[in-house]
Amino acid sequence: MRVLIALGSNKGDRRAFIKKAIYAIDNLEKTRVATISRIMPYEAWGPAIATFLNATAVLETSLHPLELLQHMQKIEYELHGRERPYKWGPRTIDLDILLIEDYVIEHPQLKVPHPYMTERIFVLEPACQIAPHWVHPTKRRTIKHLYHSLLRSFHTL
Ligand code: AMP
Repeated sequence: MRVLIALGSNKGDRRAFIKKAIYAIDNLEKTRVATISRIMPYEAWGPAIATFLNATAVLETSLHPLELLQHMQKIEYELHGRERPYKWGPRTIDLDILLIEDYVIEHPQLKVPHPYMTERIFVLEPACQIAPHWVHPTKRRTIKHLYHSLLRSFHTL
């Protein structure tokens, strides 16, 4: 099963946290990291202070989607104890599942495609580097198309 994930960090040694998370995911049972985007800086928004570093990766896994989510949440906790004083606040590592093949999942703990992925340049830009032709199953558009539409929408603001 091919899975697209997003990684982000805006606290501590941000690059190291992203690399450690990728290493930990690659070490999960039945899972390997196939491709990693560049690690890119993005301005923070909301109450977050430091600039974010963001990346995306394509995984190959035979874990069940909920098992994969649980493993990723465990990695988040292990990397930082998940001290999150408030939503959208500084975070050492944030891991999200963006796409799983062309599945649509509506589970209390897991929504796939990730509901906000098409509105976030810090997700679509690195995703476009590694998975431009992957079709978003409900928007029925490629990542490349979604990325360029989002860029265009910024220019017409
Ligand atoms: P956040 O703290 O913003 O990273 O959100 C984490 C919560 O989102 C967890 O409770 C997850 O169960 C839930 N969630 C729903 N869909 C997803 C997804 N596609 N990837 C990661 N977490 C998800």
